[in-house]
Amino acid sequence: MKKAEILDQIELRQSTLKTWLSCPLMYKYRFLDDLDPAFRYPGTLHGSALHLVLSWLHEGEWRANLRALYTKALNYYLYASPEEHIPVRWKIDMGKEIEVLKNNAIEILENYRNKTYNKDAIVLFAEVQFKVNILGYEFSGTIDQVRKNRDGSIELLDFKSSKMRPNHYAIPNDLQLTLYAYALKFGELLVDGIWVKPNMLMDSVGFYHLRAHEIYKRKVTGKEIGDEKGSPFMRTSKSIQDLRAFRSEIRSQLSAMLKDWYYPNTASCTFCGYAEHCIARNGIVPEKQASQAHELLAELEMVQ
Ligand code: SF4
Repeated sequence: MKKAEILDQIELRQSTLKTWLSCPLMYKYRFLDDLDPAFRYPGTLHGSALHLVLSWLHEGEWRANLRALYTKALNYYLYASPEEHIPVRWKIDMGKEIEVLKNNAIEILENYRNKTYNKDAIVLFAEVQFKVNILGYEFSGTIDQVRKNRDGSIELLDFKSSKMRPNHYAIPNDLQLTLYAYALKFGELLVDGIWVKPNMLMDSVGFYHLRAHEIYKRKVTGKEIGDEKGSPFMRTSKSIQDLRAFRSEIRSQLSAMLKDWYYPNTASCTFCGYAEHCIARNGIVPEKQASQAHELLAELEMVQ
């Protein structure tokens, strides 16, 4: 495939970049070969549903029934989203697992809603689409939230719902976060059907780890039963110099992404829905054996 053909085939969305960074071979399967993953993980649907509920809360449903809101959001991802035809890999029993997800969602969302810093924040944009031109290429995607805090600071937040807290050292180097900050400064946002140029430099950018609102069910060192797991905020900053330097990083990534060469990154295999495509191209590992190993990792919760 030539560069022009690759560009014709893919959209430069944040998900394209994220998949490329995760595994170039996964990027090929998903965006160039247009293949669906073999399955979806319940944890991924849970995260998407939580994102949707958070945007609804800040759009006038702050006092709504959380169980009802979450059920509506989860049902959308299960039965009405563009990916609803891809099976979900439930571990044991769909009904029981959905109940566990609902209870977890209510715990997280209630604690989110109880925080003064969330109640008092003025959410300027939630789940807002962006587009931005970098080096002649248009990048697009969705920003989780931009808020004005009580102290007047403007903050960009990317919600994370993974069980494991993101690595603190990864935040300053996270390309997606920088892409969002870049778009807010140099790009456009789709607000009420109109593309607007916010021209905003963030005071801080970071992850909001939703699982930090889970509570301890057992006593652990330094924490009591009922305590929340910690602070959800993991922050960094992006100066105008950082944003300019980002163009060089994007140039390097693009020069690799737009070449017809795709290699595996096995660090991502445990949560990859394309494992069976990979197995099919690898004659060394017997297909049944590799598939069983993947199942086992899923049972051990070593997958997302
Ligand atoms: S199974 Fe591993 S190497 Fe293959 S596409 Fe998925 S992440 Fe990449």
